[in-house]
Amino acid sequence: MTSYFDDSEIAILRAWRHKLHQFPEISGEEAETAREVVSFLADTSPDKVVTQLGGHGVALVYEGAEAGPTVMLRCELDALQIHEISDLPYRSRVDGKAHMCGHDGHMTMMAAVGRHLAGNRPARGRAILLFQPAEETAHGAEAVLADPKFGAITPDYSFAIHNMPGLPLAHVAVAAGQITCASMGLRVELTGKTAHASMPETGVSPATAVARIITGLEKFQTGEVVAQGFQRVTLTSVQMGKPVFGITPGSAEIRMTLRRPESDKMPALLEDVLSMIRATAAEEGLALAHTTHNFFRACINDPDAAAAFETAADRMNLSPVTDYVPIRGAEDFGLFGSCSKSALLFIGAGMDKPMVHNPDYDFPDELIPVGAGLFLGVLDQLLGFAQPAGR
Ligand SMILES: [Zn+2]
Ligand SMILES: [Zn+2]
Repeated sequence: MTSYFDDSEIAILRAWRHKLHQFPEISGEEAETAREVVSFLADTSPDKVVTQLGGHGVALVYEGAEAGPTVMLRCELDALQIHEISDLPYRSRVDGKAHMCGHDGHMTMMAAVGRHLAGNRPARGRAILLFQPAEETAHGAEAVLADPKFGAITPDYSFAIHNMPGLPLAHVAVAAGQITCASMGLRVELTGKTAHASMPETGVSPATAVARIITGLEKFQTGEVVAQGFQRVTLTSVQMGKPVFGITPGSAEIRMTLRRPESDKMPALLEDVLSMIRATAAEEGLALAHTTHNFFRACINDPDAAAAFETAADRMNLSPVTDYVPIRGAEDFGLFGSCSKSALLFIGAGMDKPMVHNPDYDFPDELIPVGAGLFLGVLDQLLGFAQPAGR
């Protein structure tokens, strides 16, 4: 499928992914993973290594001999707070944490690119490999962009690849324009008063309000397809009362995720949802508090950057899936569109795989050379290689 990597190189890369898989670190805690990245790629002799970028982020810079654009490739360092269910010999050794989004695979694709750049520097400009922290909480890209150290390496182009179960293995989905939705977490707290279960009328139970709010969310569910009036407010958790029999509940906490295609319409959606909840809480005599979390802006692919990905895929004879994007999911990579021409591509992880974030997910090793090949294909178009790419 690609000529960039031979079998012995692929064996080294697979072994490294399995190592990363065993020692997952969640968002904001990726110190050891960052150290491992720097150490694994030290012998590729990057011209510059930036560490502690927006947290535990690492950027490796590979300079070309001539002036030219800066092209950044981005992957993620973080794992998830999910207990892995697996018999794999390289399953997570950290209780309750695992690489269930395939970021171990993304890091390995990126390391493959770095190892290729060791002997094949860009002909012009510079290539930057960004290992971004805290993608899963939507804080990482923002923190990288806000870090003064990022100023010196601000890219002209940015590219990212995310693996995607439910797409045929190694098929690619990319397009200009919208590719992911915006998303936000909302947590509301309803507070009333407990009562002895024999005298519920002496308390203020949030139970009816919770039921009304859940039903009230129905009116915010519109459209099935992202491009056609899509909007979702998805209930993710309800906590109410204690697991006992003698007391009625005095408080409740409801969590939900809000999604829309347009980042700038998220505040209005939030306000609409909150005003329904406020009215319900008031009618039921409950105090209300709320917090918002994990605001992901939508990813909008730049046409030139998306075309570079499409050409790279075409040259590798990878099959495109034309009707897959934009997806309902969210990714914080879209923020790099504020400083560069950016594109995110989805690469199929296979039809038989569980969705990412499930406890039995595992990144398919077959994608390592494919994803790395796509990145190298992009670098080849935008920067060229000082020595012929491929072997
Ligand atoms: Zn994820
Ligand atoms: Zn992910």
